[in-house]
Amino acid sequence: MTENLHAELDEIGAVAQRHLARHEPVTDPKWPGDARIAVNFTADFDAMLLRRLMNEPPMQLAKGEFGGRVGIWRLIELFDSHDVQATIFTPGRICELYPRAVAAAAQSGHEVTDHMWEHRVPKEPELERDHLSRSTEALERLTGKRGVGTRSGHSHGLLRELGYIYRSNGSASHRPHYLRDPDGSNVLINLPFHYSIDDAMFYSFAWMGTPVAAQRISDPERVMELWWEAFLQQHAQGGGYLNICLHPFVSGRAQRVLMLDRLIRRMKEKGGVWFPSCEAVARHCIAVQPPAGGWN
Ligand SMILES: [Zn+2]
Repeated sequence: MTENLHAELDEIGAVAQRHLARHEPVTDPKWPGDARIAVNFTADFDAMLLRRLMNEPPMQLAKGEFGGRVGIWRLIELFDSHDVQATIFTPGRICELYPRAVAAAAQSGHEVTDHMWEHRVPKEPELERDHLSRSTEALERLTGKRGVGTRSGHSHGLLRELGYIYRSNGSASHRPHYLRDPDGSNVLINLPFHYSIDDAMFYSFAWMGTPVAAQRISDPERVMELWWEAFLQQHAQGGGYLNICLHPFVSGRAQRVLMLDRLIRRMKEKGGVWFPSCEAVARHCIAVQPPAGGWN
């Protein structure tokens, strides 16, 4: 019994060591000017692609389509009205489905970058390379700019080879942090988010064929208060970071756009906020605190 316990503790210790070797926090990001917090508004422009992959019924697909026809335009308009530079993570295939929206977001100065080719990362290495290359090139053709960030689980080696410097997924920290392959290679900076700051967690119902009866549509005011408190906590600490994960088919609904408008106004009134793109945050962190283990 005791021996087993020791073996288990050793294994847990080894996992913790491997985790430490792979993760390196940006301890003091020193945001520009008097900013106490950087707020990234990120929008995953999935439209119906994820829903198609999951073979969802037509009514659910239609909810996704709303994001492409209406939601994305409302979000672009909202961010433009506040001079907020947002980051739109989008599957490359959206360039075929909603080219005008993708181009308009880029023309407004927002960052538009990879969210996989069709919302999945193939297991076969050659197919994975094909997907990421297609997505990168399709977005570059429409936006005129090559993306350097992704919200995906693509392998770091491939991402680095194609010029990517950051990713945005996972919840391993509340601040930007470097993340490496287990052998110490292929470092990328990660801009984490958390499902508690993700619109889909609050506003989805009957999605993904859920049997969870507790799934409800939340009151936007309640969601605003939760996100506002997360903002306040990070603002008070200084060097804070908040990545607000939106989906045009979710937050593009009228009453939710209005809530975001009120939230951004409130943040501006508080002061000391930086609203950059994810790329700007990534480049800033890399300049302030390059990865200790080198850029390899
Ligand atoms: Zn997505």
